[in-house]
Amino acid sequence: MGFQESLNEHFPGAVPEADFVNRTVALLSGSGFTPENTIACVSVCRDEITQPLLQKVRTAWGEAFNLSSLAGMLFLGRTGFTAAAHHAPNAGGKERYVYLAFPHIAIHIDGQVGVCKRGGRKELSTACGALFAFQKELASGKLSVGLAFDDVEQSLIKIRLIQEIPYGQVPDLLTLTRAALKVIQDDLERFIGLTVDPAQSDHAVFTGIQIHGPDGNYIWPDRCFQVVDRAKTVVSL
Ligand SMILES: [Zn+2]
Repeated sequence: MGFQESLNEHFPGAVPEADFVNRTVALLSGSGFTPENTIACVSVCRDEITQPLLQKVRTAWGEAFNLSSLAGMLFLGRTGFTAAAHHAPNAGGKERYVYLAFPHIAIHIDGQVGVCKRGGRKELSTACGALFAFQKELASGKLSVGLAFDDVEQSLIKIRLIQEIPYGQVPDLLTLTRAALKVIQDDLERFIGLTVDPAQSDHAVFTGIQIHGPDGNYIWPDRCFQVVDRAKTVVSL
């Protein structure tokens, strides 16, 4: 099985990253969102191979507030989300926010999931490394789930994700990535509820999984919607 077959099997409907970002702009233009009147807020893993998405969002939307922690998790809290909202343009008495949030996973040229070749490195590498480390710790049978001040983000990943894993199970990396997506979606919507006033703003949410292939990055879209004039509509890319 090669990369494309593996991508189709695990992430049917995945599209090249540039197409995905361009579609967000085209889709939202019909609802009054433009690069001039909207702030984009993005969460991806800190890993350098995720960063082309941030660049594409900046190019398409004019700027991007960075929400990111390891694994694309949202640990910036209410203060971070409030700051992002306060940076939006005040166009025509209304503010507009576009939130994009994704965990990530690599697929190697031979179709193997979780593995990638990084430029300049001889051996194959894993992505997401943070989720892989958590998976290894689960598999070892010894899991430390306290807040570690010398490893704050990784310990928060474990504390948050363990709530999604059935007791005693050791999920594979693909399952763990989907669990991370669910947590990111739940947390994103909770923070939006805490910091966004739908009476004075419109917003859109795009979530899914970022996939690293041998020829570039892809996005598998999952929960995507817009809230315009308080009305929530699911959007399809
Ligand atoms: Zn990562």
